[in-house]
Amino acid sequence: MLELATKPTWMQLRGSRDPAEAILSHFAVRSAPVPVHQLAAGLGVTVVAAKLAVTGVLDPTDAHDVRIHVNATDSAVRQRFTIAHELGHLMLHPLSVQYRDYITSSRGGLKERQANRFAVDLLMPEWLVRPAFRWLSGDLEQLADYFEVSKPAMEIRFQELYG
Ligand SMILES: [Zn+2]
Repeated sequence: MLELATKPTWMQLRGSRDPAEAILSHFAVRSAPVPVHQLAAGLGVTVVAAKLAVTGVLDPTDAHDVRIHVNATDSAVRQRFTIAHELGHLMLHPLSVQYRDYITSSRGGLKERQANRFAVDLLMPEWLVRPAFRWLSGDLEQLADYFEVSKPAMEIRFQELYG
């Protein structure tokens, strides 16, 4: 029973059918930009920014001390995407290994694509993006600023929803 009571929030939400949506719903996120640092903290995940040779690292091997390391020399929007991507690995993939990500891992295998998919759904949920596209008349630069994502990331989302 004690084990259940002290289960970190990420572990409770991990079995959800749509974990990105489950996180947004659990923390009552209703507007952009999605507060990804606060979400990580709320899930029970420690984010550490430091100078790294890689973009991001997730170490989920100790369930009660999960850490995401992000490269402090990356731009703020890149760090936000990296945190969301690593949360994707945490919610979707085996917890027995470390995940080390380089910028080029967007071209990696299935797990990398799934983690990127999760990051897009977390940072740019369709129900926030669609109305914002209307208010901002589809101006991708303003939309990227509003969601605190990179312009290429917003372009990909735009193509998905309207392409
Ligand atoms: Zn990855």
